Amino acid sequence: MKIERIETAYYRLPLEAVGDAGHGLLDSEELITLRLHAEGLEAHGYTYTIGKGGRAVQAVIDHDLAPILVGQDANDIQRLWNMMWQRLLYVGRGGLAAFAIAAVDVALWDLHGLRDQKPLYALFGAEARDIPAYGSGVDLPKSLDDLLKQTESFMARGFPGVKVKIGRIDPQEDEARVGAVRKLIGPGVDLMVDANMTWTTEQALERGRRLEQFGLYWYEEPTIPEDVKGHARLAQELDVPIAIGESLHSPHEFQRYVDEGAVEVLQIDPITNGGITASLKALQMADAAGLKTSSHYTDELSAHLLSASRNAVYLEKHAFALDPYLQEPQRVVNGHVRPTEVPGTGMRFDESALAPYRDR
Ligand SMILES: [Mg+2]
Repeated sequence: MKIERIETAYYRLPLEAVGDAGHGLLDSEELITLRLHAEGLEAHGYTYTIGKGGRAVQAVIDHDLAPILVGQDANDIQRLWNMMWQRLLYVGRGGLAAFAIAAVDVALWDLHGLRDQKPLYALFGAEARDIPAYGSGVDLPKSLDDLLKQTESFMARGFPGVKVKIGRIDPQEDEARVGAVRKLIGPGVDLMVDANMTWTTEQALERGRRLEQFGLYWYEEPTIPEDVKGHARLAQELDVPIAIGESLHSPHEFQRYVDEGAVEVLQIDPITNGGITASLKALQMADAAGLKTSSHYTDELSAHLLSASRNAVYLEKHAFALDPYLQEPQRVVNGHVRPTEVPGTGMRFDESALAPYRDR
């Protein structure tokens, strides 16, 4: 299958004002859609940012990746992934380059599904399964009342788990918020917390100890992703499992975490990780090390990927879910999701829903 043409489009999607401790206040998401044409097939990919960097990502795809991909045989995705990684090596090794590679990589997997008439999970050799989903808000700025209202809405959807953002300056505020959510959901629902990289290891240790009384399912991104040793120490010293993965931008970064025992719940995001190919590798590392796995955002692609993971515990059902912009929004049944059954990724954007947000 010869790659004939690649086109991108840029959208800025508004968000309800939300925020977390690491990324601050967020008011928009950038979405870059990609169409890849090969021998009569049109495959779809995409990438996203949380409001910054999207123009550069689109430029890397249009000016650096598309010209080297057109004319290539699309059959060996790993070869093309390696080629993209290698050609961007000097400015890449992760970062923005990973987001650009991901858009192409998603389209390449979609293309294979269209050609073979198989859904994505089947291309991995996996079987579809029901995956528990947890409700996830980007809720650090929310008042306690609004946080509890959000939690109630998650419970109404039957989610077996909910996550709360932490990282308020005053540790007592975090404790009050996490404690109030625990009281509301009772002992039978799993509760995760997410610090979005805001603390030093020492601070993360102290904050983690204060919060362990609430019976947490995991403690996500307690400190910066560069500090592998810090995460390893937290994993060793705290009872609550350490979760990380959304800020790791290559299989190499995942490998360091797994080798150092610095991650206990490995989380994939097939966009930020550098593509489906990269996230699949990370899941294989988790299987080899006997780790639990979960996902960040990317609800639709992750339902396929987690079906290929031995110990997938949760899919994140995210507050920014792309559902309003999809032809077929992901279905949540009794707090669980399943991968789609149509050929390819199953993700098709609703052009009319996106149109008002297109920016040229
Ligand atoms: Mg997170």
